[in-house]
Amino acid sequence: MDKLAIVVPCYNEDTVLASTNEQLFYVIDKMVAKGKIDPASFILYIDDGSKDDTWDTIKKISESSSHVFGLKLAGNVGHQNALTAGMLAAKDFSDMMISIDADLQDDTDVIEEMIDKYYLGNDVVYGVRNDRSTDSFIKRTTATVHYKLMKMMGIKTITNHADFRLMSKRAVAQFSNYRETNIYLRGMIPLIGYKTDCVYYQRKMRSAGESKYPFWKMLSLSFEGITSFSIRPISLVFVLGLFIVLCSICAAMYAFASYIMGRVVPGWTSTILSIWFIGGVQLLSIGLIGTYVGKIYMEVKHRPRFNIEINSLCQHKETSHKDGDSI
Ligand code: UDP
Ligand code: MG
Repeated sequence: MDKLAIVVPCYNEDTVLASTNEQLFYVIDKMVAKGKIDPASFILYIDDGSKDDTWDTIKKISESSSHVFGLKLAGNVGHQNALTAGMLAAKDFSDMMISIDADLQDDTDVIEEMIDKYYLGNDVVYGVRNDRSTDSFIKRTTATVHYKLMKMMGIKTITNHADFRLMSKRAVAQFSNYRETNIYLRGMIPLIGYKTDCVYYQRKMRSAGESKYPFWKMLSLSFEGITSFSIRPISLVFVLGLFIVLCSICAAMYAFASYIMGRVVPGWTSTILSIWFIGGVQLLSIGLIGTYVGKIYMEVKHRPRFNIEINSLCQHKETSHKDGDSI
């Protein structure tokens, strides 16, 4: 039986923590009783620099149970960073981990299915919403636009999955090799590879407290996602520049023909054409410089170029040694 860690980022979640803890505890108890997880499985709450009594509550809960732990961050660093801090902290103490929001809008009933899929050999199991009817109109529309944009930009993400997922220890270990500071987990986790699966659920309304993701924060997360994973916007500038230069060359031919036929106002052709041509060349140059900047950007992230799943060469080495061969 493998040990499960449930990782929960919390920012000003004092009003929901007690009931959240009760429900998560129930899940752990149930899974232990069914023999699906190690009895030493635990919950880790990360206090992301809350301004209310969140940390006091976490402390109280953890003192009353040996299955609950707390991690207090020195200041508010945002959901993605707080969750990453929790995942990295829990990595060495668990075999698998589930990340879930403190308000438990995500359905804890599918956790069992996630664990089952983990035992079937999946290293990542994504929780995917099959319905967004509990979202406000704005949230629903922005989410749709966001996922469409991500696809257009060639970024691999799971539509309608929002950080409710199970990850195996080795998947978290691989993830820890991605050392970039601008973090967008939903884009990073699919880069890891390995066998993955999804479970589907309906998201509930927030039981208490208010959403920590107002409109502007969602926009900035979406922008972060796109700019951290794709340099396609720069390529678009380059293509636009090329298009304008080509257009101005075609227009130059037309204008020259008109000039020969004497159908032009003196000075107009040269003025307009030079504006378009110079504009196009400038855009093209910016796009070209941007392409190099984009490559530098991707380089400085120092992302692993590949992740190894199985390496039978290690076994070969062991047997060779046993056989007394030298390598
Ligand atoms: N959160 C966090 N730091 C922040 C903002 C949010 O740790 O700066 C946590 C929050 O406590 C919750 C999760 O991130 O557990 C998701 O936030 P929320 O439920 O408000 O987002 P929504 O469900 O409205 O998108
Ligand atoms: Mg929520």
